Amino acid sequence: MMTTVSPSAVPSHLDDVLDAVRRRSAGEVVFQQAVEEVLHTLGPVLDRHPEYADAHILERLCEPERQIMFRVPWVDDRGRIQVNRGYRVEFSSALGPYKGGLRFHPTVDLSVIKFLGFEQIFKNALTGQGIGAGKGGADFDPAGRSDAEVMRFCQSFITELYRHLGEHTDVPAGDIGVGGREIGYMFGQYKRIVNRHEAGVLTGKGVGWGGSQGRTEATGYGTVFFARDMLATRGQDLTGRTVVVSGSGNVAIYAIEQAHRLGAKVVACSDSAGHVVDPDGIDVALLREIKEVRRERLSAYAAERPSAEHHAFGSVYDVPCDVVLPCATQNELGEDHAAALIRNGVLAVAEGANMPCTPGAVVRFREAGVLFGPGKAANAGGVATSALEMSQNAARATWSRDQVTDRLESIMSDIHAHSRATADAYTGDPDDYVAGAAIAGFIRVADAMLAQG
Ligand code: GLU
Repeated sequence: MMTTVSPSAVPSHLDDVLDAVRRRSAGEVVFQQAVEEVLHTLGPVLDRHPEYADAHILERLCEPERQIMFRVPWVDDRGRIQVNRGYRVEFSSALGPYKGGLRFHPTVDLSVIKFLGFEQIFKNALTGQGIGAGKGGADFDPAGRSDAEVMRFCQSFITELYRHLGEHTDVPAGDIGVGGREIGYMFGQYKRIVNRHEAGVLTGKGVGWGGSQGRTEATGYGTVFFARDMLATRGQDLTGRTVVVSGSGNVAIYAIEQAHRLGAKVVACSDSAGHVVDPDGIDVALLREIKEVRRERLSAYAAERPSAEHHAFGSVYDVPCDVVLPCATQNELGEDHAAALIRNGVLAVAEGANMPCTPGAVVRFREAGVLFGPGKAANAGGVATSALEMSQNAARATWSRDQVTDRLESIMSDIHAHSRATADAYTGDPDDYVAGAAIAGFIRVADAMLAQG
């Protein structure tokens, strides 16, 4: 039965949804955090569109369409059998096949994968590329594992997951701990099992066998484009700006590269064992060599670069800067970090990672008038370029690097403009990118769900 929801009933409707989420996902702290952040922005939307509450869109959206958990047995180099747990949470197929990365990290659990999958709903919708939302991974720790061990793990992972995948069904990609090497091993195993070269089943593939130019760089580049567009709204740009990036993985490396291209100087980055400060600007070639080829710690960077200093203690966020790009992991930037950055005069924050800033830190930035770009919008360039890879695969086409980067740049500008306009329309504050991105993504998914019944 359809009921009419009056505007005054909206807050209690949101409370009811949140209560139901808390009941169903007891103990899933980070998932609940992600849901709360989105639901808190949706009051004005439900106010204007009672049809969403009538159709219980939120209740449906907060519950994944399907959650898959499975055993991943594999044999290590000493011949011992190891067992990990694999996950794939298929959150929403309203806009297209489930799409989102795989994370291999010891901290992975159902709550982490659900939070990431939930974020993906709004992010993927914002890209306008016709992709649904999912996320997966395993509590496997690739650190210190040989190539052969990583390969055996990936093969076992796909031996179970393959039955749920498909170019029109569910299309994974990389995330923390999953890069080109792992995608290659997983693609090979998928192909072996299904006996079909189904290029569009995974993205982030090697450029020689179905991958897209520019996919590796896309998340980091896109985050910098987003920061540039935010600064432009205040008549500022990146030229001559000092930037701090957290992390030193795929997202961080290419954020640093693009920030340098746009005339900024990145003076610090970090890993789980500390951070480096390099007043001459981070040398991206050396960083890539250490992190991607040698797979070593950042201390090796400082040992080889005379201008750099390694700090095992303290925080990368204590380094003064104009722009900060958190590109490591969730909840890495807390209120105290935000306070230090604000004291040091930070102008803009763009999240390259998913939800790296805690809710308290976001409030601090907003209160201090610091431009804040949430990950849903600021890091959407990665998955957007995955969608471009899917388009190329479907058409059996190969686009040039310039074609891909131009598309990425225009998608990021559209996301920025659309988030800003939506924030303005629903909150009266165009700088409220948190609300703008969530609302804009939500409306696209909600309308598709209404139409599809
Ligand atoms: N893991 C990335 C993200 O957080 C990319 C996902 C993809 O390309 O499917 O958006």
